[in-house]
Amino acid sequence: MMSSPSYDAIVIGGGPAGATTATVLAQHGRRVLLLERESFPRYHIGESLMPYTWFSFERLGVLDWLKQSGSPIKHSVQFVSTSGKISQPFYFFETIKHECASTWQILRSDFDKMMLENAAAKGAEVRQGATVRDVLMEGDRVVGVEADIAGSDRETHRAKVVVDATGRDTLMASRLGWKRRDPDLNKIAIFTYFAGAMRDPGLDEGATTVAYIPDKGWFWYIPLANDTISVGVVAEHDYLYRETRDPEMIFQREAKGCRWIREHLAPGTHQGPMRVTGEFGYHATAAAGDGFCLVGDAFSFLDPVFSSGVFLALKSGELAADAIHAALDDGDVTATAFDDYAREIRHTLDSFRQIVMAFYDQTFSFGAFIGAHPDLQPLLVDALVGNVSGGLQPLLDALGTFLQRTDRRPADAMSP
Ligand SMILES: Cc1cc2nc3c(=O)[nH]c(=O)nc-3n(C[C@H](O)[C@H](O)[C@H](O)COP(=O)(O)OP(=O)(O)OC[C@H]3O[C@@H](n4cnc5c(N)ncnc54)[C@H](O)[C@@H]3O)c2cc1C
Repeated sequence: MMSSPSYDAIVIGGGPAGATTATVLAQHGRRVLLLERESFPRYHIGESLMPYTWFSFERLGVLDWLKQSGSPIKHSVQFVSTSGKISQPFYFFETIKHECASTWQILRSDFDKMMLENAAAKGAEVRQGATVRDVLMEGDRVVGVEADIAGSDRETHRAKVVVDATGRDTLMASRLGWKRRDPDLNKIAIFTYFAGAMRDPGLDEGATTVAYIPDKGWFWYIPLANDTISVGVVAEHDYLYRETRDPEMIFQREAKGCRWIREHLAPGTHQGPMRVTGEFGYHATAAAGDGFCLVGDAFSFLDPVFSSGVFLALKSGELAADAIHAALDDGDVTATAFDDYAREIRHTLDSFRQIVMAFYDQTFSFGAFIGAHPDLQPLLVDALVGNVSGGLQPLLDALGTFLQRTDRRPADAMSP
């Protein structure tokens, strides 16, 4: 075991949440160590961005990379009904008069590598092939980590604050018994890639399409660079596994039954494995403790129907980094120093979750809801593009009333 210098902060995990936390802390002049298990580039799902990620990218200094990356530009989202009827695309520029109205469909292996390199360029010490095995604790307070470094010994590092950005591995939440599954969002996803499949013309070339299947399941269809399409089906476990557990057969069956997906995939060639992900909703009972914070999927995972995951990873990374910087200035890194961070990220998650719950409600339609509440349309748009800093409460109240009326659980399942 080697002893080592202490850091202001150690970030565990170098996905978008960890890279953002490390970058912002380094920009604040803090001494940061980021430990990432894999060697980048590595595969990751989560390719479609929300418009308001733009502001995090601006702060991190990575907008130029995105603009030059060749990533398809996402101007819109469109929905296809089970009968094959296509909605008018929802173009972000119709409501957002800002450059952020155009966002991107990203290849995560390239994007995550760029984000990690950017953290290093901004001053964070980044080590890949470094698996954190455990956190060091003194009483209830986290004071460092133990990590296995590829080709080296186990190392111990101490820091004033540790940030868990381990994604769906949920290192701290699992260790502390803080992880709670979301019983209302118990879906699975089966997903893969096609080369040469159909793209819609013109402005819609980079659109995300959400195509419904029965029982409020849905396909995503996301055009990526290099003539690749990311496509996946999300639905209840019981629905997808009703005849077979073979992911290939399930995917083919559902794609055959969904005309829009079938026609769009027809000219393409299937590439790579069929992947399966379960455990679609969970959260930790707290976002911070003495000497540590949780960010991104390490804190909570929400169904991806509105492409909120990377946005939440970036947002929580920024908020946590600012909170840690202030706490270090104050010389107090106990849990209460992170109360504002925890409150804000929980509120953002609650807001998204409530809209996701509405999406899955069998009797709910956004069209009918807006018909009944036309004044709430701008707030609904704000929520769907990630503009969550303003007051979404009237929208959430109206959705909550609707969901209670239809006997569905409101968004309070996120509360501890
Ligand atoms: C099926 C599906 C579809 C999705 N689609 C979208 C989408 O279209 N748009 C969107 O915005 N989001 C989407 N998401 C969500 C998105 O993938 C995540 O929200 C996002 O990647 C979270 O970033 P993160 O940094 O928190 O975690 P991750 O990106 O998972 O990064 C965590 C990192 O921690 C590392 N790590 C883990 N354990 C350790 C350890 N012990 N020591 C060191 N390193 C460790 C891992 O190697 C990994 O690199 C989707 C998710 C799923 C499952």
